[in-house]
Amino acid sequence: MKETRSTCPYCGVGCGVIIESDGTQITGVRGDPDHPANFGKLCTKGATLHLTAAPGIARQTRLLRPMRRLQRGLAPVAVTWDAALDLAATEIGRIVRTHGPDAVGLYLSGQLLTEDYYIFNKLAKGLIGTNNVDTNSRLCMSSAVSGYKLTLGADAPPACYDDVNHAQCLFIVGSNAAYAHPILFRRIEAAKQQNPAMKVIVVDPRRTDTAELADLYLPLQPGTDVMLFHGLLHIMLWEGWTDAAYIAAHTSGFHELKALVRDYTPERVAQICGLKHDDLFQAAQWFATSAATLSLYCQGLNQSSSGTAKNATLINLHLATGQIGRPGAGPFSLTGQPNAMGGREVGGMANLLSAHRDLANPVHRAEVAALWGVPDVPSKPGKTAVEMFQAAADGEIKALWIVCTNPAQSMPDQALVRRALQRAEFVVVQEAYATAATCDFADLLLAATTWGEKEGTVTNSERRISRARAAVPPCGDARHDWRIAVDVARRLEGQLRPGQPSLFPYETPESIWNEHRESTRGRDLDITGLSYAMLESAGPQFWPLREGEPTGKARLYEDGVFPTADGKARFAALPWKPLAEPREARFPFSLTTGRLRDQWHGMTRTGTLGRLFGHVAEPAVQLNPQDMERRGLKDGDLVYVTSKRGSIVVPVQSSAALQPTQAYIAMHWGAEYLSGRNNKGEPLAGVNALTTSAHCPTSKQPELKHAAVQILKA
Ligand code: SF4
Repeated sequence: MKETRSTCPYCGVGCGVIIESDGTQITGVRGDPDHPANFGKLCTKGATLHLTAAPGIARQTRLLRPMRRLQRGLAPVAVTWDAALDLAATEIGRIVRTHGPDAVGLYLSGQLLTEDYYIFNKLAKGLIGTNNVDTNSRLCMSSAVSGYKLTLGADAPPACYDDVNHAQCLFIVGSNAAYAHPILFRRIEAAKQQNPAMKVIVVDPRRTDTAELADLYLPLQPGTDVMLFHGLLHIMLWEGWTDAAYIAAHTSGFHELKALVRDYTPERVAQICGLKHDDLFQAAQWFATSAATLSLYCQGLNQSSSGTAKNATLINLHLATGQIGRPGAGPFSLTGQPNAMGGREVGGMANLLSAHRDLANPVHRAEVAALWGVPDVPSKPGKTAVEMFQAAADGEIKALWIVCTNPAQSMPDQALVRRALQRAEFVVVQEAYATAATCDFADLLLAATTWGEKEGTVTNSERRISRARAAVPPCGDARHDWRIAVDVARRLEGQLRPGQPSLFPYETPESIWNEHRESTRGRDLDITGLSYAMLESAGPQFWPLREGEPTGKARLYEDGVFPTADGKARFAALPWKPLAEPREARFPFSLTTGRLRDQWHGMTRTGTLGRLFGHVAEPAVQLNPQDMERRGLKDGDLVYVTSKRGSIVVPVQSSAALQPTQAYIAMHWGAEYLSGRNNKGEPLAGVNALTTSAHCPTSKQPELKHAAVQILKA
């Protein structure tokens, strides 16, 4: 038996796994006792990974070879890799020559490895000449990125998992960590058991399993987080709980914020947030006066039309109370996907460049152009996720290359996504799973390797870089994502820069990673002191890890110096704004979405295992018991859930976790489980038939956490 150390491909906790195999088949998986993210523990999803790789399942679900659809609506036929790669390069080249580089869009994934991400970013921005490269991280973490940059000056979570053991107050907001980050939640439970005096505050409209651990649960109304954070600061100021010395020495912009929060009185905040006056005071006191307060937050803040403001105004509280840069203290965004961090590090988004550089900065563009050996990097901002699909639906983007993600299920406003995929002239889907809904729209399917077959690196929520390793050869004729991208890029170079040396000389993931490492020199995430050899010998490492340093930094800003022009963190004086789509008479329910404990994203992998349906067997819309009674509904009744964009039919279920006028549907269920139609009668699937593509103006992250809906008995 062979044992291979790697990482779990699901969530951003980034647990280490040991893959057992006979060299050709994966036979088992267990937690890696030496990995600092999990110390040997795995949740239900991680512990069943090997079963998802069983040959019987792979034969039924995997995309085993490249395929081409000769005509839309027909079944795809197998083609050779040479034919597939030639077709990709020919069609993309034709579209670039005919319509310009911005007629191409690449839509990537937080589940790609850092090396994959790096190549796609260079291919788009360095070779094709478009910044139209964005990822499903836009649906996941882009508000956290913009919140950090606005206040702390860089996209760098300042805390680490070990801070859970040092905190005296945990402020968990917009995160059901018990389901979404189970192994981190085990650590939180253990810390609470060891230190019962530690106060846990949970803020969430739904009373989730995470809220069961709370000393204080704040069931705020959807979309009122900024109101709450300003209200807490108002109380802290009134009570003298802020840290004047820290504010004076390490921050700027406090006067403006202080003036703004004057109007956020406890009475007003309690009324708009739907919270008790006393609870607001208790939360403010524990947050401000505990020896160390750690905030943990996720999609409840990020997936919002006020996503940046929610992130930034929470960070305001840490800066105002000096709860940052010490063990157990700081704001800590939890990453949804396994490598959304790595994607950001290589600049794999429409507004970013390599090593946390900004596309809008001409100096940064020149640095990256020099690094890549190209005349320039285009300055025109790229299309972010929703914008990209809108542009394809409008006929502006002609070629879409979708990699390792399933927008035909996961993007908001599925009617828009469907129009985009149908109107684009050429749709490439690079995927491991033939069952992903987006495959149905592909002109060309490129079979990709996946967990257990791939080599590279990932970065988890706490800035820790780990190696992902291959235990077995690729399934069927699947190829690695970086390899496919390099092979298409080399063919495109023949058309777009003939006769010049290749920009893509790579033959291994390590050679790609070494170029990425050099791009970080002198940047906030400098990893010039790290190598594949060090990851092999010393295990996972935090960034930054500069040349000459023995280890990376577990905590940032311990010296109170921030990566801004004056070295000071900046308060964000951003007012509260209501939801993009508030409830109204025709749509009187607030629909929110979220994760189940044992499923992952669109269920392409977890949906293959019967045992992962043991926790929740089928989709349902959950409603408060009072709403059920008022509408004469009982558990199991079928209802239409209808928004302005579409309607689905789903069984209803009573849940005391929901407040009156709220509704909840898990995000995972696709066409097999949850069908519906849009207003034109076209078929749509899943909860995203209902959600809105309204998004935060800064982060461009859509408001997946709230849509106004009507619910009627079917
Ligand atoms: Fe995988 Fe996340 Fe579970 Fe860890 S907590 S085993 S990374 S799904």
